[in-house]
Amino acid sequence: MRKVNRKERNIIVVTGGVISGLGKGTVTASLGVLLQSMGFKVTAIKIDPYINVDAGTMRPTEHGEVFVTYDGGETDQDLGIYERFLGIPLSKENNITTGQVYLKVIEKERNLEFDGQCVEVIPHIPEEVERRIKAVADKSDADFTLVEIGGTVGDYQNVLFLEAVRRMHLRGEPIMFIHVVYLPVPKNLGEMKTKPAQHSVRTLNEMGIQPDIIVARSETDIDDVRKEKLSVFCNVTPDRVISNPDIGNIYEIPLVFRKQGLGEKIAERFGVSAKPDLREWERKVERIRSLGKNVKIGVVGKYFDTGSFALTDSYISVIEAVKHASWHLGARPVIEWINSKDFEKDGRKLEGLNRYDGVIVPGGFGSSGVEGKISAIRYCRENGIPYLGLCYGMQLAVVEFARNVCGMKGAHTTEIDPDTEYPVIDILPEQKEILRKRKYGATMRLGSYPARLKKGSVVHKLYGKDVAEERHRHRYEVNPEYVKKLEACGLIFSGVSPDRRLMEFLEIPGHPFFVATQAHPEFTSKFIQPNPLFLGFIKACIDTNRRQTR
Ligand code: GLN
Repeated sequence: MRKVNRKERNIIVVTGGVISGLGKGTVTASLGVLLQSMGFKVTAIKIDPYINVDAGTMRPTEHGEVFVTYDGGETDQDLGIYERFLGIPLSKENNITTGQVYLKVIEKERNLEFDGQCVEVIPHIPEEVERRIKAVADKSDADFTLVEIGGTVGDYQNVLFLEAVRRMHLRGEPIMFIHVVYLPVPKNLGEMKTKPAQHSVRTLNEMGIQPDIIVARSETDIDDVRKEKLSVFCNVTPDRVISNPDIGNIYEIPLVFRKQGLGEKIAERFGVSAKPDLREWERKVERIRSLGKNVKIGVVGKYFDTGSFALTDSYISVIEAVKHASWHLGARPVIEWINSKDFEKDGRKLEGLNRYDGVIVPGGFGSSGVEGKISAIRYCRENGIPYLGLCYGMQLAVVEFARNVCGMKGAHTTEIDPDTEYPVIDILPEQKEILRKRKYGATMRLGSYPARLKKGSVVHKLYGKDVAEERHRHRYEVNPEYVKKLEACGLIFSGVSPDRRLMEFLEIPGHPFFVATQAHPEFTSKFIQPNPLFLGFIKACIDTNRRQTR
């Protein structure tokens, strides 16, 4: 294998044309997997052309899930796709937004760092973009830095990012451009049309960028006629038009690309040669094709307002973590959404939970649907249904236990009831101060924190070590004043912070599986390596196998 010249930063820019929602994130991540399998080290950057400094201040129904990085970044969900595919932790610096770029430039201007120059959109904004891309590339010491530019070519918002990479290319930096387009098949014609793709490439050309490779997304594989057309009108040779049809399982895309020699084509462009070896990946994919029985998981949530699409996006890491663990154990995951508000209207609906092999209450904020979630948790606890609580799902499990086992009537989290007699979940004093000042952005407990695991506990067995690190995103915590009382009633805090102040994991002994964590273990689940807590939960769901015993 010829080595990449590490003195240079080898950058692969991924842009999108025609429509949004093409799965550019998955394309980018799949390219990364392919390059990794050729022995290269990769990193990936997502550029988001919005003014928000990070994704943390956006509603999940607006933007999808906020993905939390180990170093506490509240980032775009594409970073989650990259991590799940590439199996490497990425920093918050791997998510660049318009807001960050402008904030930095204005800050520098205020600090007189421009030596009295007139500070302008061109060149100062693209220069800051370039500085950020290079900083990530240098820090990660990667052979290849993948840069996905969000939005669609022709949008007003991403022009300055495209300008940044154009200038880098002009100066001779090794950059390759991959443009992902969509080929629609209008029903009345039945023919796959290339025209919108041609136009999007032309728009890119107007901005001084010529794609090296076209990835053609469509319902089916593209034929030679379409390939030829795209080649002629988009100015690339036909072998550089890559077919990327709709596919049931996104983890097959690296294999789709390998079949078309995409890895070799990229390597060749950078003057190196290597062959992909995706054997392990392929074995995993094969396994998914021949799964045994179903494992049915109910997710009790509240972001149901804008239809099932928004829903899937809001909980994408939870969904993927369930899939990774189920596939690993040879079961087919069936995930259903349960609106917790339904339980508030009609308590008899709780019996419907018996249809599931296991129930998850994922992270959440605010009062809507909370009583329904608490009732669902109670039902799982009392009826031996495997339960996994994630963040809010742990806090509400504590509330439920305090109320119904310890007899603390009206116990609550102060997020919902600030005047409760039993504030079993409360806000830390430092968080109170932050809220008083209305400093909402990036001020929660964020990122990776270690937890000491109790020997002999379920979580200790699952993680197989004394200290587990998982990522956090919350303001409220188990109130230390109630820990002894809750434990006296049978609840076990099986993971605590090294200073013993923060409760990180809990479990109830004697239950088939009742485990909850203040963290978000879904963020560290990978396709190749599922998260241990999810593995334990799904295994319990399969073992308990409630539906077969009824
Ligand atoms: N609303 C809770 C808190 O802020 C839980 C947050 C979450 O589930 N991520 O502490």
